[in-house]
Amino acid sequence: MKLYSAIITVGVTWSLAATAFAASGTGQAFYGDPPDDHHPWCVHDWNRPQPKVVAPRPVSELEPKARPPADAIILFDGTEASLAKWCSDKNPNEPTKWIVRDGAMECVPKSGYIRTKEEFGDCQLHVEWAAPSKVEGEGQGRGNSGIFLLGVEIQVLDSYNNPTYADGAACAMYGVSPPLAIALRPPGEFQYIDITFHRPIYKDDKCVQPGWVTVYCNGVLVQDRTQIEGPTGHRARTKPGPLPEKGPLRLQDHGNPVRFRNIWYRPLRPALPKGGVRGPLTVEATMAKRKEIAAMIRKDAAKHAGQQPAEMLRLFESVVYEKDAPTSQKAGQLAAQYVEGLKQLPADKLAAKKDEVVKVSDAFKYLAKFEFIPATFAPKAEIEKLIKAQGWVQAKGKAKKK
Ligand code: MG
Repeated sequence: MKLYSAIITVGVTWSLAATAFAASGTGQAFYGDPPDDHHPWCVHDWNRPQPKVVAPRPVSELEPKARPPADAIILFDGTEASLAKWCSDKNPNEPTKWIVRDGAMECVPKSGYIRTKEEFGDCQLHVEWAAPSKVEGEGQGRGNSGIFLLGVEIQVLDSYNNPTYADGAACAMYGVSPPLAIALRPPGEFQYIDITFHRPIYKDDKCVQPGWVTVYCNGVLVQDRTQIEGPTGHRARTKPGPLPEKGPLRLQDHGNPVRFRNIWYRPLRPALPKGGVRGPLTVEATMAKRKEIAAMIRKDAAKHAGQQPAEMLRLFESVVYEKDAPTSQKAGQLAAQYVEGLKQLPADKLAAKKDEVVKVSDAFKYLAKFEFIPATFAPKAEIEKLIKAQGWVQAKGKAKKK
């Protein structure tokens, strides 16, 4: 009996799977590029686990956050005027043949991909799309479009009750990474997609910082800092390589009248040309940046020339970023003069400078602690002596509260 039900179960499972295969219309095995040393699945592999289905967040929760922030660059706002920001992808001199209807732009099948005239790179991107409410086609043939950032496709597909190969489902990085979940509303309703995109950084043909993409679908995390190896493709394994520094946003015509609205982006800080950017920088990039900061502070110190202790403190501050013997020497001389000046002040004038003097003493303690000045720096000892004599006792290097 047990054996019999097992056979039945296997039979049912197989027939369901077979239905799904047949429904895919794109073949099953022997289709996409085979596994390799870093990818255990074929491209578009039906053996790859299907994403779980998650109920999406209600529109009422998402809608306020979907409004473009003040610095967003609007790519489409539902008007004909904003459609003019797009053109044919194949012939960029020609306007798009996609149409605006009810505040959304709609793909006109066979009219071709479209692209923005605007070009950009690393970004935060918001897109809303809706698959046709009239359900037609199966698998990749139902409500298919795509959001292309520098050649990387974030899949647009009506994956609502519509299985396909996992790496081709809605919000997949197409052919590379299935979404963590299917969090779609039914066809006809708008899906709210939020993307953070960072291209990989190459230096001398070597990837010094991988690119990655994070995607939320209707408020549900579906790509979690997924690594970008290179441009995505159909059936073909992604070839690791650099992406252009910037390019247009492209939307796919896959033969389905998918609708789009409320498209905006915010450029994200681009990569520094020398070495990495996110996380620890390379030694070269760090030293270059420190030099730049030190120069900025010294320039500011020059504005305070003759005003002590402002000039002296700014000069010392610059040394924290970049050691520079002449600057240290000059700051040291100004410090000695400053402390000498304090000693000449009548008691009431000195008392009025209490906060300033304590601040300078704290600065000296910091500079000595991190060895930017010698522990034996004479003005440091003198100012501490003066503070003690005044009874302005400091606790743990911090000025005592008034
Ligand atoms: Mg597509």
